[in-house]
Amino acid sequence: MSTTRIFILYTGGTIGMGPKELGVENSPLVPQSWEQLQQFMPAIHPDGYFSQVKNIAFEYHSFDTLMDSSQFDTSHWVMMAREIEQRYTEFDGFIIIHGTDTMAYTASGLSFIFRNLNKPVVVTGAQLPISHTRSDAITNFSNAIHIAGAKAFGLTPINEVTICFNDRVFRGNRSTKASTNDFEGFVSPDYPALAELEETIRVLPEYVQSAPKGPFGLNTRLNPNVVVLTLFPGFKAKHLEKLVDDEEVDGLIIKTFGSGNAPFTPEFLGTLERASQKGTTVMFITQCLQGRVSLGKYEASDVFGPIGVISGGDMTSEAALAKMIWVLGQNISREEQEILLQTDLRGEVTFR
Ligand code: ASP
Repeated sequence: MSTTRIFILYTGGTIGMGPKELGVENSPLVPQSWEQLQQFMPAIHPDGYFSQVKNIAFEYHSFDTLMDSSQFDTSHWVMMAREIEQRYTEFDGFIIIHGTDTMAYTASGLSFIFRNLNKPVVVTGAQLPISHTRSDAITNFSNAIHIAGAKAFGLTPINEVTICFNDRVFRGNRSTKASTNDFEGFVSPDYPALAELEETIRVLPEYVQSAPKGPFGLNTRLNPNVVVLTLFPGFKAKHLEKLVDDEEVDGLIIKTFGSGNAPFTPEFLGTLERASQKGTTVMFITQCLQGRVSLGKYEASDVFGPIGVISGGDMTSEAALAKMIWVLGQNISREEQEILLQTDLRGEVTFR
């Protein structure tokens, strides 16, 4: 059996955390070293199951500063992408160990940064530290090894950026963190799971992206000047005005009610029209967990298309944010950017 090579990038997150002050009850959790995490995962040791029985060779790299993922920004997406790019040809699959809080953002961001990805990049973490007696870490980690090392297990490879959590593999840019504490921490509300890991592992190839044509590479041109805001009953145009006037805001994602509905007062409409005229890209997504924006379904959404608002379809807010950051970073005309925003680029959206 030929060797399957898996590269593991450890960035931080609960999975490897322990108390800041040992022996102090309720001491806040902080990331601990790769060595501390690894000792709870004997199956990945050189004399463990994966090497001995499945001929898998692992290599590891830790971020210099391990972090709670709530501290990440787009520069961390680029750091992760570069770590993988450097080793792309050498390894069969990649695992990123990551905090759950912003896992879906990172997975979405990476899906756009990677061009022609044709190997599995599996992002995983846990709700409880691996040192906890009831942790979900070992299951999630082992499952991620099966998906990243598909070849060694005779599985169809899922050559995408995915999130592997609680016995499911979801497309990263379709996933969202759904629970702070349930082991079912992630859902993919508008797209089926790509694999189910029960007693046997079932990969669902019909939902996996087809192989790209062209060489793998990165496109790290990003414009992080994008803001996401959520509407609420009583939302006033003045809440929006400051953002529209802010020269550092190039894109605005508005989490609207239901299928794209928003107050259509003259003030709100006028402010959005002004945004569009001054070159700010405005996209509507839904604040519902599941479903899509259909501009024009109601009078309360019909007025926005004509003033330049773009529909984000059924994108999660994580995917919409990552996509806009990436698209607005590209050196192309505003019209071309708007076309890209309304095109399915990495399986992140289904337009109807
Ligand atoms: N705050 C943690 C993080 O995102 C939560 C987790 O990993 O579950 O790093």
